[in-house]
Amino acid sequence: MDTTAAAAPGRLLIDGAWQDARSGATFTTINPADESVIATVAQAGAEDVDAAVAAARRALESGPWGKMTAAERGKILWRMGELVLERIAQLAMIETLDTGKTLFDSGKIELPMAAQIFQFYAGAATKIAGRTLPARSDAFTFTLREPVGVVAAIVPWNFPFLLASWKVAPALAAGCTVLLKPASQTPLSALEMGRIGLDAGLPPGVFQVLPGSGSGAGMALVEHAGVDKVAFTGSIEVGRTIARAASAPLKRVSLELGGKSPNIVFADADLDAASRGAFNGIFYNKGEVCAAGSRLFVQKSVHEAFVAGLAEKADGIVLGDPREKGTRMGPVVSAAQMETVLGYIEAGKKGGARLAAGGRRATEINGGKGYFVRPTVFDGVDGTMKIAREEIFGPVLAVLPFEDAADAVAQANATAFGLAAGVWTRDVAKAHKVARAIKAGTVWINTYNLYDPSLPFGGFKQSGFGRELGVEALEGYLETKSVWVDLGR
Ligand code: NAP
Ligand code: MG
Repeated sequence: MDTTAAAAPGRLLIDGAWQDARSGATFTTINPADESVIATVAQAGAEDVDAAVAAARRALESGPWGKMTAAERGKILWRMGELVLERIAQLAMIETLDTGKTLFDSGKIELPMAAQIFQFYAGAATKIAGRTLPARSDAFTFTLREPVGVVAAIVPWNFPFLLASWKVAPALAAGCTVLLKPASQTPLSALEMGRIGLDAGLPPGVFQVLPGSGSGAGMALVEHAGVDKVAFTGSIEVGRTIARAASAPLKRVSLELGGKSPNIVFADADLDAASRGAFNGIFYNKGEVCAAGSRLFVQKSVHEAFVAGLAEKADGIVLGDPREKGTRMGPVVSAAQMETVLGYIEAGKKGGARLAAGGRRATEINGGKGYFVRPTVFDGVDGTMKIAREEIFGPVLAVLPFEDAADAVAQANATAFGLAAGVWTRDVAKAHKVARAIKAGTVWINTYNLYDPSLPFGGFKQSGFGRELGVEALEGYLETKSVWVDLGR
């Protein structure tokens, strides 16, 4: 099988056909491991968005899609899952080239999970149902569930294919049509998802893919009168911009935003397991995880030894080309992201935190090419420091000590975010009490970073609103209509 990125079409998918941008504009996407250009991709602009929205509306209102049964939609989604698995080697290579994540992470973890997402929602399509409600004896009253309509899905670069599947699969299961705009840094796997949709039998216009810039194609989608719902994952700043822009037409919006998630280790925990959990909680995917356990709270009595163990592990991590088998961590996604991460590392040093591991760019790999940053652990952090308050979205851990459960909960909740949290203890009652007290959409007890299609995921507070995954995600793509039938007296 051809496993090079050249297999990606590099053009917009509009109305069932691969097209150049109407303006002729293109952009390049870079391999962050060696800074080489991987591919040139058509860049959608407002005219392309117009054409795609018109096609999406036709597909919804007069195409075969609107007449299909839920079982027929489910069958196509199931086939999309199968095609992900059939093409997994090629998809994993594309994802790894575009993001810098290891081939193990893309091929063994994320793409299999994306296939599961398509197949979970394949089954879910036939479970969508209204209710009959015995409101009155002289009326028959019931609800219908209808697709919300044309959906714009705007996704970030950290899990390009997987996070797109979190939106595309439930939206299609609900009967919507979908326009997907991938992040500028990582457009390639989204195009492959478009190809998979076509090959699985989606009618033209049902699922379209529009690589382009956030301010161009992204904003055009958000502001377009023909788009009924915007499903967004990304930064808080862009989330705010989208919420504001969507407020004039009062468009439906769901937002999955950032986090600064607390991972709390009590002295009575299985400390080896907790150490692995704390390590993977921050360093999985180079820390480019919205739910990363980036604030590690360790109980005072075990704090020193625990941090020393973590620092040793961080220093031992094999950084390198993500295509190579021995590599455990690849480069961060882009030069800009590397600069941001290095800026936070400087802020940590200047702010008085103690550097326990890493703390620099790794220039010894690929002859100094590539955006490699050593996994970094800061100890002696307090809650007022920049590195404890702001999302870094890179391989940088802030460790903070705590006294007891009340102190841990108070510090953990002292943030504007509320996406996820971890708790490590052998005391079952304490684990449950802390899980209830933490303000976050997901709490992991004695584990971290686990996901399943059936479990809803999303944020409290400024980490966003709406839920992805689970049957809950379908709600975001459905309207509810109440119908009254007069039965006379
Ligand atoms: P971002 O800058 O917010 O971009 C996310 C997406 O929005 C990209 O496709 C981007 O396009 C697009 N965009 C940018 N400006 C836009 C605008 N004005 N209108 C419409 N679309 C616009 O985020 P990022 O830097 O790619 O990703 C990192 C952030 O995402 C982090 O803060 C992280 O926490 C968050 N995140 C959250 C979750 C979650 O599930 N909660 C998951 C992953 C990431 P361009 O790429 O062209 O700018
Ligand atoms: Mg961006």
